[in-house]
Amino acid sequence: MSKKVTLVGAGLVGSLLSIYLAKRGYKIDMFERRPDMRKATTYAGRSINLALSDRGWKGLEGVGIADEIKKIAIPMYARAIHHKDGTTVHQPYGKDNQAIYSVSRAEINMRLMDLAEQQSGVKIHFNHRCTGIDRKSLTAEFINEETKTVTTTQSDLLFGSDGAFAASRLNMQLSSDRFEYNQHYISAGYKELIIPPGENGKFLLEKNALHIWPRGSFMMIALPNMDGNFTCTLFLPFEGEKSFENLKTKEQVKLFFETEFPDAVPLMPTLLEDFMNNPTSSLVTVKCSPWTFDKKIALIGDAAHAIVPFFGQGMNCGFEDCVVLNDLISKHKEDWTKIMDEYQTLRKPDGDAIADLAIANFVEMRDRTADPKFILQKKIEARFNSKYPDKWIPLYSMVTYSPHIRYSTALKEGQRQESIMQKIMAMPDIENKWDSEEVEKEMLKFL
Ligand SMILES: Cc1cc2nc3c(=O)[nH]c(=O)nc-3n(C[C@H](O)[C@H](O)[C@H](O)COP(=O)(O)OP(=O)(O)OC[C@H]3O[C@@H](n4cnc5c(N)ncnc54)[C@H](O)[C@@H]3O)c2cc1C
Repeated sequence: MSKKVTLVGAGLVGSLLSIYLAKRGYKIDMFERRPDMRKATTYAGRSINLALSDRGWKGLEGVGIADEIKKIAIPMYARAIHHKDGTTVHQPYGKDNQAIYSVSRAEINMRLMDLAEQQSGVKIHFNHRCTGIDRKSLTAEFINEETKTVTTTQSDLLFGSDGAFAASRLNMQLSSDRFEYNQHYISAGYKELIIPPGENGKFLLEKNALHIWPRGSFMMIALPNMDGNFTCTLFLPFEGEKSFENLKTKEQVKLFFETEFPDAVPLMPTLLEDFMNNPTSSLVTVKCSPWTFDKKIALIGDAAHAIVPFFGQGMNCGFEDCVVLNDLISKHKEDWTKIMDEYQTLRKPDGDAIADLAIANFVEMRDRTADPKFILQKKIEARFNSKYPDKWIPLYSMVTYSPHIRYSTALKEGQRQESIMQKIMAMPDIENKWDSEEVEKEMLKFL
């Protein structure tokens, strides 16, 4: 008889995981707190967008749905850096037309739900909020948010895919001895704003780029949507001189934007209303351990590793969790005792690593992308990489375009590279001899 699986949360990762498991013949009941977003008009048009990159694509390819998702994804080949003086500079993401892809979070979630429901054995129960999990009997309890009735379900396996503030994780925390838990909010929050399309749906900024307005202690980014919009996200400290607490009136907001983002303001006709009406949200990193319990329960996606969005990897990492789990199911021939153990030992260091990399990339994006020394450093690295592709893969490429390299390896290798680059950047007259043989030899020596 096929194994019964309960999934708590039909977000991005839960929906994808359900497809992986259904393809292996498991019977899945997926419980989602929210109503079916495919029927709710409130989701239409409003969109956080996410950067999907190679680890995420690999997760989608694993169940043959990458082509479906490509239909709703816009390639971004470069960062477009918008300086305060109105000039824009392009920094390609990688070589050979490498891209990351902008997808609407709601759109991709809806597609994944469609694809999940097309599998035999997957049922999504909407409006069902998890309120408890009994570890002994592997019974989960859900309250129907509409009728307020309570449902319980018993299964052979349970996955907590209920996001950064997971009820499943809290349940495990409360019922476990020695559960490690660390939650950290960064000092900046974010607010979403919009650049609408021009006439006939025209994109008002370059469509195939991720736009960044780096300003030292804060920044704004913009990603394209299929309908010609750009979703802008302002990342700004909650407190301090330039902060959300000092942007209380429309006059303050207007002055701030005209001073900091003068080229964007004319493209944002509803800026002031949007700023006043849209929520300011916080950004959290969650690290916890263990991720598995009693060889039958596992956390996955943000429930296991919520990270800040500055490497664009939260969803990608969650999709990679599904790939790793699927490989382990094959490797251990469905022996879940072994699968759970190895999932925990293999994946936890990678979750921690991408969490740390994401925090570090916040500084890089808001601060260093505008710094000429940093730009030069990246140029030297790119040149060296093109001459010695086996010896040097830039950190961004390791994380974004190299799913065969583990996040934990990328973190270590990135730290090693940074210490080498500090020595190279300290060489006298580096600005003029950055592409010389002398610099190249020096780098080879340090490797
Ligand atoms: C501003 C921002 C930008 C981001 N940008 C990127 C990016 O560019 N690239 C990238 O890869 N990632 C990005 N991320 C991260 C990405 O959104 C998450 O990593 C991803 O959504 C995690 O998927 P998930 O399925 O684990 O969690 P979620 O998508 O949060 O899904 C969890 C689901 O569980 C449901 N749920 C919650 N509690 C319960 C309960 N008690 N019972 C039942 N259901 C429940 C929720 O309603 C939800 O549907 C970004 C995040 C933010 C905040």
